[in-house]
Amino acid sequence: MVMEATYIDFCKHSARYPITKEKEYLMIGLMNEAGEVGGAFKKEIRDDVDNKELIIDEMGDVLWYLTNLCTLYGITLSDLMHKNVSKLVGRMTEEQARNYRISQGTELPNNAK
Ligand SMILES: [Mg+2]
Repeated sequence: MVMEATYIDFCKHSARYPITKEKEYLMIGLMNEAGEVGGAFKKEIRDDVDNKELIIDEMGDVLWYLTNLCTLYGITLSDLMHKNVSKLVGRMTEEQARNYRISQGTELPNNAK
């Protein structure tokens, strides 16, 4: 298992692009790789095949770009996950958030509507 800090460091050190165009490269790369996930899924429909492994491989590419964008924007992956959970919990009713907490036995931020 790769720990978050190790993966973040790996992504930073395996990047190959002009540093003066870092943000542009990472943004376009993220969009491109997300498109490759969609393309692999599209081919499942067209060719009636199971592209699960290809989809997972492309999601890994998405993660690489997303990780480097997180580094560029000064946020860790776990902080990003926490912020996203907070945002989505804010869209839940209090009952939905409570039911989720109970079903998962987990803590969620208390910002549900
Ligand atoms: Mg790819």
